[in-house]
Amino acid sequence: MTHELIEKSKKHLWLPFTQMKDYDQDPLMIESGDGIKVKDINGKEYYDGFSSVWLNVHGHRKKELDQAIRNQLEKIAHSTLLGMTNVPATELAEKLIEITPENLTRVFYSDSGAEAMEIALKMAFQYWSNVGKPQKQKFISMRNGYHGDTIGAVSVGSIDLFHHVYGALMFDSFKAPIPNVYRSNSKDPEQCRDECLQALEELLVESHEEIAALSIESMVQGAAGMIVMPEGFLSGVRALCTKYDVLMIVDEVATGFGRTGKMFACEHENVQPDLMAAGKGITGGYLPIAVTFTTEKIYQAFYDDYEKLKTFFHGHSYTGNQLGCAVAIENLRLFESETIVENVASKSKELKTMLEEFNSFAHVGDVRQLGFMCGIELVHDKSTKEPFPSERRIGYKVSLKMRELGMLTRPLGDVIVFMPPLVSTKTELLEMVNIMKVAIEVITREEAASFVRNV
Ligand SMILES: *Cc1c(COP(=O)(O)O)cnc(C)c1O
Repeated sequence: MTHELIEKSKKHLWLPFTQMKDYDQDPLMIESGDGIKVKDINGKEYYDGFSSVWLNVHGHRKKELDQAIRNQLEKIAHSTLLGMTNVPATELAEKLIEITPENLTRVFYSDSGAEAMEIALKMAFQYWSNVGKPQKQKFISMRNGYHGDTIGAVSVGSIDLFHHVYGALMFDSFKAPIPNVYRSNSKDPEQCRDECLQALEELLVESHEEIAALSIESMVQGAAGMIVMPEGFLSGVRALCTKYDVLMIVDEVATGFGRTGKMFACEHENVQPDLMAAGKGITGGYLPIAVTFTTEKIYQAFYDDYEKLKTFFHGHSYTGNQLGCAVAIENLRLFESETIVENVASKSKELKTMLEEFNSFAHVGDVRQLGFMCGIELVHDKSTKEPFPSERRIGYKVSLKMRELGMLTRPLGDVIVFMPPLVSTKTELLEMVNIMKVAIEVITREEAASFVRNV
């Protein structure tokens, strides 16, 4: 029976971000979940060490969240938001505005982080057209940035491995350097930060009159390998956007909803974006809801008589889905009653201590962390920071070993991602960290040995 399902999956499914040949060799099918563990169809349990791709907050089958969906089902599952609204979408919007940075007053719903970014880009573009500066049409984005996989989001992204092949499909955007402290030649994080800010300012001096907006992930570049920005960088970017009259789009899709120990990561530096995208944790990891937030000023630039044609012509079939909004409301209520953000802030200090041991590992080059967002970068040679040859797929092998040991995650190249559900306890964090230690130790030892033999 079990085997049959796996065969069916191999026959019919095409999985996202997956080389299907890998899946054919190492298939996995999840059937259920409870707390911070998931269980496959053979009954084997795994820690959800990456929060089911950076989403999960309260664990799986959280009673209150399940009930919120049941309650909403008693009323209605979905009706459109085009030209009308619904009860949970309205209530959720009010709660969201209470917890987002002060200047953000408007909520535009969609279904995924990539869409929330597309919407931010289109809003920024049309904003300038609506206010009579149609020459501001271009974007600045950050090198190695990631904003999702639709064409607009890819155009402001720059992860070569994912994006290279689509080059001809993308609109141009200026790329500004990002302070990657581990890989930079600067003498310290401050110098690294200042050099990047200076390069951005030079770009803005040159081209601000044609720039509509700048897009940036908040405090941490996730998909780039959990690159934590040095203190003062995000606020420095904010100051430059203001100075040169460029809208700032902050992508909080990964970092929002408590992940970094603040409700939104931009709070670490009191940054108020002009547009902000959020998704992932918004429903606690239950249903696909995403949001683009914006200021009253931007909203007002679209508000006019119909014949002025300033309407924002954008929407999706499932925008503002009631089930999703209902579970998001309950998620936010739990954030408050269970003091999730405060707990992440304090537990992440303990987590930091647990992760310190990795620094002594022969093949761990760098350990990066902000809250419950962590990356452990594996390298072949620690002193020169030389990576393992990418075709050896060390990160992938470590993740398979972790799977064997009872924990799921997905690496970013040779960066091992650790993003546990926000409710993980100290004991659970320790168990997960121990699984990572064993897996990293075993695989890097084997690989380093065979690498030496093969050279
Ligand atoms: C995951 C992610 C996205 C895309 O969100 P989807 O819901 O997968 O479309 C965008 N930006 C960042 C920073 C992300 O981590």
